[in-house]
Amino acid sequence: MPKFDTLLTPPGAVAGRPGFHGRLPYTQALLAKAGHDQFMLISNSHIVLPDRSVMSSQPGGGSALELPVREFAAALRGLEGVEVGHFLIYLDAALAALPLHQAASVEADILPVLAVDQVQLEALALPPGYALIPLRTALFQLDRAEHRLFNRLVQWSHWVLQTRYCEQCGGRLENAEKELALFCRSCVRPVYPRVAPCMIAAVYRPGELLLAQNVALKSRGLYSCVAGFVDPGESVEMTVHREVREETGVLLKSIRYIESEAWPFPHQLMLGFLAEYDSGEIVPEPGEIEDAQWFSIDDLPPIPPTLTISGRLIRLAVDELREQGRR
Ligand SMILES: [Zn+2]
Repeated sequence: MPKFDTLLTPPGAVAGRPGFHGRLPYTQALLAKAGHDQFMLISNSHIVLPDRSVMSSQPGGGSALELPVREFAAALRGLEGVEVGHFLIYLDAALAALPLHQAASVEADILPVLAVDQVQLEALALPPGYALIPLRTALFQLDRAEHRLFNRLVQWSHWVLQTRYCEQCGGRLENAEKELALFCRSCVRPVYPRVAPCMIAAVYRPGELLLAQNVALKSRGLYSCVAGFVDPGESVEMTVHREVREETGVLLKSIRYIESEAWPFPHQLMLGFLAEYDSGEIVPEPGEIEDAQWFSIDDLPPIPPTLTISGRLIRLAVDELREQGRR
């Protein structure tokens, strides 16, 4: 297994310091030296994936996100002299909790990621069979395990590409010494990626679900759960009651936490709930909600796929209501 520092320390940088930003005249040599024969390549808006025909013919093992370094030799030469973000990503979620100095010695799949400006990514000569795919399109071409990796990949990449200066003093950030973070030398403070908590709730009453269509979903004809950001000072429970009331006008009797999922556009953590209706008529919030209705669980409109937390919450609510109906 390659040593962590081997991969992340660019030549000429302070020895032993992990690196986010750097010029990569050495990209290919770096990857080869570190013993990695696969990597991932991403920008703020696109990711490089095998095209559909290649993906569907891939035999079993191997994620579509992993690109073979050997085939990308020419493309990687196109990044010479360009500043890119580079970091390691863990393929095993359990490992993400380990401190980095331990992770380096664990036998696990960790893959290098190159996060590149979109203009530079478009300029690369990709090998045949690979394409630039918009991130939101890619999301729905992946399986569940790849989806989890993709969430981390996109969120870290966005952060690496967008975070260059200290918000407090405007100084250029450096790479932190011992963790995946940046550091402002003047303010003497580390800078970490942001995570924004959000709630998402499937509202139910006997035999029916309250589903809403926001402006973004209208073009795709989908109805989904109510969702919204947690405001500063709120508990997520308060947010559930507030957002459901604001967006649909109804009050809730009780709420129950189910599961969470990262949503990387740009950095949400979705906390999923089932919420029991109490009272009130539906009044869709103007400008926010295109339409909201009670739907019979036997006659639902088009809903998001189970790949997304909203799709899973809706199906769970339907299963529970069916079960109640049988009693
Ligand atoms: Zn500063």
